[in-house]
Amino acid sequence: MKILKERILQDGRCFPGGILKVDNFINHQMDPILMKSIGVEFVKRFASAEINKVITVEASGIAPAIMVGYLLELPVVFAKKKKPSTMENMLVTSVYSFTKQRNYEVCVSRDFLCPGDKVLFIDDFLANGNAAKGMIDLVRQAGAELAGMGFIIEKAFQHGGDELRKLGIHVESLAIIESLDNCEIKIR
Ligand code: 5GP
Repeated sequence: MKILKERILQDGRCFPGGILKVDNFINHQMDPILMKSIGVEFVKRFASAEINKVITVEASGIAPAIMVGYLLELPVVFAKKKKPSTMENMLVTSVYSFTKQRNYEVCVSRDFLCPGDKVLFIDDFLANGNAAKGMIDLVRQAGAELAGMGFIIEKAFQHGGDELRKLGIHVESLAIIESLDNCEIKIR
């Protein structure tokens, strides 16, 4: 996606350990015009998929997911990173966080992820694929079906995308980062 790649090259910043900071248009301040274009692109790329629900993980996945849900007129569910004390009937999985370097629990209510649901998962980044694998586990626990996984940015050098594609999952990434070596952003 050309405008996204240009924006990453213009405003993205590299941090040691292979971290790309896109805080001024995705992860902190958000650009709704770009986010709308991202939504439109996801809708195009998953046009052949049968979907009745969009899922994501809080917090940074919510903006692109809501754009896709709005365009497809489908409900959007975000998995929570803290189990709410008032919520029963939860599906829970454990995810290793690459940026925080620890495990955390991700949960979603069985009321909103149901047997027979055909879900499209949307998130900001795909790195090692741990968050994605956690979501695959929640979808499996719910007895739902995964229609595809869409990421704004995939870091190819961390190989989560390879693993997901090997599982036969329809993965779409709108910008693929080949390398962040020497703090230089190389985009495919
Ligand atoms: P994974 O689970 O695929 O290893 O990492 C995906 C999650 O980690 C994303 O949802 C994102 O929140 C975070 N993440 C991974 N790499 C980066 C990065 O380079 N920059 C930012 N901002 N977040 C990242």
